[in-house]
Amino acid sequence: MKFPNSYRGRFAPSPTGPLHFGSMVAAVGSFLQAKSRGGEWLVRMEDLDPPREVPGAADEILRTLEAFGLHWDGAVMYQSRRHGVYEAALNMLERLEAIYPCACSRREIADSSVNGVDGPVYPGTCRAGRPEGHAPRAWRVRVNGRGIEFVDAVQGRVVRDLAADFGDFVVRRADGYFAYQLAVVVDDAEQGISEVVRGADLIESTPRQMHLQSLLGLPTPDYLHLPVALNARNEKLSKQNFAAPLDPARPLPALLQVMRFLGQDPPPALAESNLEDFWHWAVTHWDVRRVPRVPGVVVKTPSGGSV
Ligand code: GLU
Repeated sequence: MKFPNSYRGRFAPSPTGPLHFGSMVAAVGSFLQAKSRGGEWLVRMEDLDPPREVPGAADEILRTLEAFGLHWDGAVMYQSRRHGVYEAALNMLERLEAIYPCACSRREIADSSVNGVDGPVYPGTCRAGRPEGHAPRAWRVRVNGRGIEFVDAVQGRVVRDLAADFGDFVVRRADGYFAYQLAVVVDDAEQGISEVVRGADLIESTPRQMHLQSLLGLPTPDYLHLPVALNARNEKLSKQNFAAPLDPARPLPALLQVMRFLGQDPPPALAESNLEDFWHWAVTHWDVRRVPRVPGVVVKTPSGGSV
């Protein structure tokens, strides 16, 4: 099913710390895809994982977006306020007999599974029922050997075999929290997102999300996975490897660097301009065909080194 109406994109940060260069790539790329098409750009705070969240990070992220001139449409959606909706989706999956409780520990899974494209493939131990005396922990969705195929606007064609590549995956975690895969599918549909633009580190989530969309009768948006920003050791920039937070007082240099990272060619004079001129140029000149068609790109600093 496709959306007949106009373009709607989104940026969906997790409030685990301040925005850094890598997260700004996803923010700017999704914003420009939307605004260059006269579409809307929504922000969704993915605050679904309290153990990983940093107090104050959500507000700080929003303030940085504003300071960078990334003004969103409508109200920010907070996943932490939507537990009832995720619960309803889980109930529907349960009625469809598409999910089952799993009693396996992380350790048991690691010991008995093969590696898939994004972590261990669950061996299906609890599929036919939990072993006697084992309490349920997580809930998993059955995948039944379904082939999934999509054409990513930047990374190209992706073909995956859900059973071989991922196995039955978690929709409600052992600690009781809803899994990202479930919430994102429900929310992309609720927000009427026509194209998901995000980092290529999430491309392997897409086949699982498409499976859930089809079970829940939700539309499948288009997908565009941007290259992720890598440091000199080829690691994704993240809070874990101390990517520097962006300075809200100096948005222009970072924005120009993001544009170059995304294969665009901003005129050097823009560095001396202001946010309004920058965005006017960026929205009118955005050319998605110039985005490097690779999963990751090493970030070069203006002095030629890498971050
Ligand atoms: N919340 C996720 C992150 O910050 C992004 C999820 C998505 O764009 O689907 O990595």
